[in-house]
Amino acid sequence: MIRINDNYLNLQDSYLFSTIAKKVAEFSKNNPDKRIIKLGIGDVTRPIVPKVIEAMHKAVDEMGNPETFKGYGPEQGYEFLREKIVKYDFESRGVNIDPEEIFVSDGAKSDCGNIGDILDIGNKVAITDPVYPVYLDTNVMAGRSGTYNKETGMYENIVYIPVTSKNNFIPECPKEKVDMIYLCLPNNPTGTTLTKEELKKWVDYAKENNSIILFDAAYEKFIHNDKLPHSIYEVEGAKEVAIEFRSFSKTAGFTGVRCAYTVVPKVLMGYDKQGNKVSLNKLWNRRHSTKTNGVSYIVQRAAEAVYSDEGQKQIMENIEYYMENARIIKNGLKEAGYTVFGGEDSPYVWLKVPEGLTSWEFFDKLLEEANVVGTPGSGFGPSGEGYFRLTAFGTKENTVEAIERIKKMKI
Ligand code: PLP
Repeated sequence: MIRINDNYLNLQDSYLFSTIAKKVAEFSKNNPDKRIIKLGIGDVTRPIVPKVIEAMHKAVDEMGNPETFKGYGPEQGYEFLREKIVKYDFESRGVNIDPEEIFVSDGAKSDCGNIGDILDIGNKVAITDPVYPVYLDTNVMAGRSGTYNKETGMYENIVYIPVTSKNNFIPECPKEKVDMIYLCLPNNPTGTTLTKEELKKWVDYAKENNSIILFDAAYEKFIHNDKLPHSIYEVEGAKEVAIEFRSFSKTAGFTGVRCAYTVVPKVLMGYDKQGNKVSLNKLWNRRHSTKTNGVSYIVQRAAEAVYSDEGQKQIMENIEYYMENARIIKNGLKEAGYTVFGGEDSPYVWLKVPEGLTSWEFFDKLLEEANVVGTPGSGFGPSGEGYFRLTAFGTKENTVEAIERIKKMKI
């Protein structure tokens, strides 16, 4: 008899984006003359920059030449890419990382989801709330959660750490002892991030409690304030307690190309049943090289080109394009009387929905009255209720028009 993984039955239907799609389709059908503007999904719209395309073409040609053809590459990633990552993403910020601590992959989503493979099912998990839903769902799949409570919108045995305007979007370390802590900074969906001092409190907590911080820095390139950390390793001693996830998806428009990496420091230790220290770098290396043959040569050459001077200039132009959209959204909403957060060091703008409305009621109002699609905050966790996410990843024209329409709405 084929027994299934029953934990999957404990998952709540991820109805967020499917419900949005259904509502939008129905509205379109009933209002064929209305042009809907989508500022909901966190996908990029700017094409891949020329320097990266050039590197991809070159790599494609190498694959067609018997002299330069490449078969399987190193599972952890080619040295040329790991070395560039170390130099440009870490050394440049005063952080010393060994190329052997970098594991190149097809996406931060996969890595965030797979990291639990090397960690015990009995670990207690903490997530900030609201947050990117992958951390929670993958732990439910693994069996680290209890059952879902419909009334609270929370799983038992998971520690939810609220990140709302009430605490200025600064998550407080839990009073109880937790083992695995997910931090997403800048945070999807709130668009807020932490200072080095605030981040240090988490590193100190993890050291005191022998916990691990799973730090998702997928949006670090959008940080504009020079004083803010881009990597958790900018906090002294963080290598002993943290794994960091990075992605080329939002940084360089690789959502369709697929390339990311994870940093697992060599000094980072976990404990076996007997309490002996075990290197997580070794375990992740074993897991990675057993379950994947890595990322294609062509894609890794493309990622490498991101670090060239021209590549950096070009990707930053795209990021500035999105950040201009974020400013348009944020300032426009403020003028219209909304309370707005994020959008300064992140492509996400997080707004408080008007008094008396739920996130979903505001979604309907926005769709019907402004023909604009956003994402209800409650879809990212119970503390997201009463908030709403708009993304800066649209075109400038659509962003400007969407905001003009929202300004005309009565609130
Ligand atoms: N991490 C966060 C916080 C995200 O918001 C996303 C995508 O939206 C990802 C990871 C996924 O990254 P990737 O495209 O590298 O899988």
